Amino acid sequence: MILSGLDPSGGAGIQADIQAVTALGCHPLPVLTCLTVQDTKNVYNSAPVDAGLIEQQLACLAADTPFQAIKTGALGNADVVDVLVRFLDRYPDIPLIVDPVIKAAGGGDLADEALIDRMRSRLFPLADVITPNGVELALLGNSDDPEKAAVQLLSGGCHSVLATGGHGTGEQIINILHRENRRTEEWPLERIGGEYHGSGCTLAAAIAAGRAKGLSLENAIDRAQLFVLEAIRNALEVGQGQPVPDRSRTEST
Ligand code: PLP
Repeated sequence: MILSGLDPSGGAGIQADIQAVTALGCHPLPVLTCLTVQDTKNVYNSAPVDAGLIEQQLACLAADTPFQAIKTGALGNADVVDVLVRFLDRYPDIPLIVDPVIKAAGGGDLADEALIDRMRSRLFPLADVITPNGVELALLGNSDDPEKAAVQLLSGGCHSVLATGGHGTGEQIINILHRENRRTEEWPLERIGGEYHGSGCTLAAAIAAGRAKGLSLENAIDRAQLFVLEAIRNALEVGQGQPVPDRSRTEST
């Protein structure tokens, strides 16, 4: 089950999620949380979907369809977090993968202060993992030091934080999994260079697909990273801004 926003350029948001999850052999249940005005360069406006309607959709789906993981991206507004938290109360064993979407790569806002606070206080403690990029990690963990920011998020109730390094500058991308009372785990990955529209969404959705199929968090991250790398290697020049990872290649495992 996926709760995320619509990017009409087809690069990020629910389209990225649907494509990644489908390519990895799962059937997505897409619940749209917001509409955006967006191209491959930036987000210019957005409007949330009514939280009451989302609540009805979740209840309707849950009554009909089993689901094995939940993934969130842009959530629209704080009311949607409240609806989701009420819903999740009934499914404590379903892994929740939270991509804490705050800003588009071009700088456009996708979350206001109330939404950021509500995610931090109510949603993060319920997540199997949250997947902030460098900018989101600094903002959410109140520090420009990624280690300190991750520790701050763990002490605020997060169980695990996958700090993604795609926005850094090193020769390699290093994604780091921070967990309560566990050693950190690092994945050095090839940096292909450039910025790709929807790479964060693709990674979190691919992790959710792995968890839905019963993989451990580490194995789901492992496989999701390889999927994103391959999608980026084959990125599509959709518009004038960032290329879009090609998530159309299916994987049978
Ligand atoms: N979700 C929506 C609806 C978006 O419009 C965007 C970005 O612009 C994102 C998520 C985040 O995209 P990315 O994966 O590039 O961080």
